[in-house]
This record gives sequence, C-alpha cells and structure tokens, in this order.
Amino acid sequence: MIDTHNDVMISILEGLKIENDLTGKTHSDIGRFKKGGVDIQIFSIWSDERYEMGKGFKYANRQIDSLYSIVLRNPDKMMFVKTPQELKLAVRKKKLGVMMGLEGGHMIENNLEYLDSLYKRGVRYMTLTWNNSTSWGTSALDEELQKQLKQKSANRNNSQINKDSASVASPTGGGREGVGLTDFGKTIVRRMNQLGMLVDMSHVGEQTFWDAMAIVTKPVIVSHSCVYNLCPHRRNLKDDQIKAVGKNGGVIHLNFYSGFLDSNYERRKTIFLSHHARELDSLKTLKWPSFDIDIWMSKKYPNEMQSLRPPLSLLLDHLDYIVKMIGVDHVGLGSDFDGIESAPQELDDVTDFPLITKGLMERGYSKKDIKKILGENFLRIFKANHP
Ligand SMILES: [Zn+2]
Repeated sequence: MIDTHNDVMISILEGLKIENDLTGKTHSDIGRFKKGGVDIQIFSIWSDERYEMGKGFKYANRQIDSLYSIVLRNPDKMMFVKTPQELKLAVRKKKLGVMMGLEGGHMIENNLEYLDSLYKRGVRYMTLTWNNSTSWGTSALDEELQKQLKQKSANRNNSQINKDSASVASPTGGGREGVGLTDFGKTIVRRMNQLGMLVDMSHVGEQTFWDAMAIVTKPVIVSHSCVYNLCPHRRNLKDDQIKAVGKNGGVIHLNFYSGFLDSNYERRKTIFLSHHARELDSLKTLKWPSFDIDIWMSKKYPNEMQSLRPPLSLLLDHLDYIVKMIGVDHVGLGSDFDGIESAPQELDDVTDFPLITKGLMERGYSKKDIKKILGENFLRIFKANHP
C-alpha cells in the first residue's frame, strides 16, 4: 500500500518524534504506519512562500537531513527508497519504504543544479508549484486570483479596453504577468523527465497543467487532488484534465481533505469559525498562516470539527468517478494526512487505510483492481519515469 502524500515532516521539524506514539497529536507515526498497512510513504518536503530565494533550498535540505536521520535511527523498521527495485525490497523486508516529494518548485530557487541535487538526495517527485507561483509557473491559487482581478476590473470599466486587466501580476509571488509555464519552466519539466523525477500536477494552475502536459514525455503524477465536478475547488481536476492524465498514462492520487471532497464543507467550516470569531481574530492579528489556524482550531474544538466531516463514501465516489472516466489504472491514494485539519468520518489517521480497502470491496472492485489502486499504479509510473 502506497500513500503519495503525507505532511508529518512539518510536525517533526517542530520537534515531535515519529518513533513515539503520537496518537491525538498527529495523523501518523512509525507504529501507526505499520498498523495501517502502509508499505511505502512519500513524505512531503514542503515550505510556503516565505522560503523564497536564498532560503527554500536550504530548508528543503534541512527536512531531508532530518528524514535521513530518522531512517538511520530505525534501520529495522524503515529504509530509503530511490528506485523501483528498492521499493519492492522494502515491501519484501516488511520495512516502511521512505520516499520524498518536493512540494513547491520555489525551493529549487530557479536553479537546475539544485533540482539535480535534490534528485540525487532521493526526491522522486516535484509539485511544480505550491499555492504560491514561481517566476516560471503559476499556481492554481494565483490563476484563480488573476481571473477574479481581471473580472473585477472588466466589470468596473467594461466599455473600454482596460489597462489594469492587462497588467495583473501574479498576486501570491513570482511577480510575473501572464499564466502557465515560461520557457525556463518548460526546461525544468524536461529536466525532470530526463532525471526520472515525476512531474506532480497537484496545486498547479490550469494553464501550467496544460503547458506541462504538452511537453512531458513520461506519465505524470497528481499526488493529492480530487474531482472538480464533484467539488468545484481550484485544487481539483476538471474533466478534461482527468482525461488528459488518462491519455498520458498518469495516476491521480486522491486527497482526503474534506474541503476537496465535499462542496459544502467550506460553508460548514465558516459557520463553525464564526462561533469563535474573537479567538480567530486574535490568531490573525498574530499573523498566523491560515493553515496553522485551521489545525489549531480543529484541535481545540474536536467535537465541533467532528460534526463537519463528510462520510467516507464521498471519497469512494470521487474514486469511482475517475475510474468510470479513465479506468482503474489511473487512480491511487495521496491522503495529505498531517497537512489537513479534516478528513472524512472514520478516517482518523493512517491506521484507517484498511477501511478504504473494505469500501472498495463493498463496491465490487476486484482484488486485482484494489491492488492497482493501493499501489501498483504508482509503481507503474515510478518505473516508467525511472531512467
Ligand atoms: Zn498540498
């Protein structure tokens, strides 16, 4: 069983030890990965836009250093996986196979040598952008903000050609006009294909997606996203994108975040937060990132958060949707555990993966299909990308 996205490195950098039982504090630790039947975990090496030029690469390496030391401290329980052969070896030896994905192209700081170096250290996918754009590729968030800004200025002055709308620079970083991949962005994608680093399409803007799709020579990964038609969120894939991933031979790994699965979750969450408006305001005054605020509030009010969760069946609906559209060879799981404040009911942490297997069996998926969904599909694209 392979999960392509887990953010527990954030908690590790804050000082938690995943050798310990962290139940109640995180979604994951070494003991619970074992209990949940996780064979291979891709750990996200993530930073936000504050780690820009001069900081991102160093910070990524700091996270990789700490993951290396965790594996070194636990040689009987874990091993690093950099090749498809090592992946199979980890499964055979019943050790947790540790893989890494870089979440956010800003951490290579516009430097192809940094990309090469991260590949050498074991990073096997790179999400071209996180929520922030780079100077060479726009994020889903940015493309949405740009569209809104253009719409606003068009509404203000719809009878004339509007110069504002022509010069909307990337709102969350990158500082560039226009959307999609630049020539340098395309060079990066080509280099990734050459190295054998999977191109990850989660978080990227639609134009970036299409620009990358037009030039990739290997199957892509979508490491943690869901279906737009079932939950219209910028982080999810529209039908034409899903079909393009199918045609490319890639795999879409479903995110467990309630807000990407259930189109009513955001509304319910807003109502919940409005009940704690004063507390929320003070956290905002302290300039906490919204991600940290969400996690904090969810831990402080577990009972209220519990009532916001959609049913587990909704996750399976997203999966069915993709299978019906492009087939069972193109779907997998990328939970985003420890990067989300809410997952569907019953999916409390990494020990609950077997409930998905159970749900798939109840929906009539064959043993062969379930094996593909739980890991063989990823192994196929990992092999196809490996030089
Ligand atoms: Zn993410």
